[in-house]
Amino acid sequence: MSKVIVSSLYESDVFRQACRQFDQAADAINLPDAIRDRTKYPRRCLAVALPIKHDNGLVVVYEGYRVQHQLSTGPSKGGIRFHQNVTLGEVAALAMWMSWKCSLVGLPYGGAKGGVIVNPLSLSEAELERLSRRYMQEMIPLLGPRIDIPAPDLGTNDRIMGWMMDTYSNHVGYHEPACVTGKPLSLGGSEGRREATGQGVAYLVKSYLHDLNIPLAGATVAIQGFGNVGAETALALADMGATIIAISDHTAAFHDPAGINIRKALAYVQSNRVLQDFDGATPITNETLLELPCTVLVPAAVERVITEHNAPKLRCRLLAEAANGPTTNEADKILEDRGDIEIIPDVLCNSGGVIVSYFEWLQNLQHFYWSRDEVIAKLHVILDRAKSSVEYQKRKMKFSRRLAALTLGIQRVATAKHQRGLFP
Ligand code: NAD
Repeated sequence: MSKVIVSSLYESDVFRQACRQFDQAADAINLPDAIRDRTKYPRRCLAVALPIKHDNGLVVVYEGYRVQHQLSTGPSKGGIRFHQNVTLGEVAALAMWMSWKCSLVGLPYGGAKGGVIVNPLSLSEAELERLSRRYMQEMIPLLGPRIDIPAPDLGTNDRIMGWMMDTYSNHVGYHEPACVTGKPLSLGGSEGRREATGQGVAYLVKSYLHDLNIPLAGATVAIQGFGNVGAETALALADMGATIIAISDHTAAFHDPAGINIRKALAYVQSNRVLQDFDGATPITNETLLELPCTVLVPAAVERVITEHNAPKLRCRLLAEAANGPTTNEADKILEDRGDIEIIPDVLCNSGGVIVSYFEWLQNLQHFYWSRDEVIAKLHVILDRAKSSVEYQKRKMKFSRRLAALTLGIQRVATAKHQRGLFP
């Protein structure tokens, strides 16, 4: 028997979405009550105040979080998000998904996530550095190469990971690159990490299109979000021969049925920070982008963009969830009933990032560095294995692909918890 007594700490739409997915998966595999709630709820969280002196002398206090969902299968792992809409509930949901993702692809990690309520584009470089260092300083009691290892996520990048690594190393008194992943190469980052998530998304898209007998050469792709994941996915798919017909960020969206020059768009963002006023295609809205006729739709920005309102209107053949949690439970049900769209669920689709983060951590611990070709080849081996296990589970259990992926991830965590037993 198990009885759960929880507060409203994580209460939010996105946490409810993650819990509902868990409940459906747990029901589908008859997860015993005694292990269910232990597996579901985050183990611990830390909320911190981050006072930062702005360049104009003003001191502003930001709020930051870290949620460690579970540490039963290894140290926890997960990105840090800098975004104005971050909530503790969102961070908890993202930490939960990290647990299932790491478990699904067979990494020796639990799941975690961090966040700061801030629009990073509103800060100067010096302010961003102070905020990043302060976040790491405050989180040190909960972080470390054997406890919890952060990485980049929405609004953070390799430069920020470098500052965090330096802060941690100064605190312990020696160079400790294994405390965060997604660092610059010069600070112990891994070859292939920056592009890993997008490369993984593109590799899986190619593989699923092959299964559907759709040649990549004629495929059209619409991508929402043009940051690390969206832009790298666009580049990789364009290099494989696909036509990228639409891209967007939080400021603008663009469409060209003949194909957008992705390198031109990337150069534009590098000098202007955002896509706004890009002249390489026709402006549309982010909502329209999601409903364009295309072979592949790639949400690569934020959660909950595919809802019960637009799910009936999607016109893609393959939905590749590069973002975490882009599809609400209601939309998921609509897409399942429609049956004409294949979904690569987030926990599989964007797992390339954490897989190469794992490689980076291994290289840091061993002080032995691999070539980009080795990294990408090893990434493909793990993605192929994970995809095969999901497809096998899907066929054997007659599950949707999302349910297949989640049940595999959840079952392995529950088994580990059961075998470890309850610490008295
Ligand atoms: P990023 O900050 O590099 O880029 C995010 C992009 O999304 C930016 O172009 C931004 O303008 C855009 N965006 C933000 N809000 C938007 C909105 N409402 N509508 C349209 N565009 C919007 O972040 P990222 O690292 O590329 O992460 C994107 C997604 O991928 C997130 O869901 C993240 O959790 C997930 N993810 C990232 C990694 C990684 O390695 N970085 C790994 C796995 C999953």
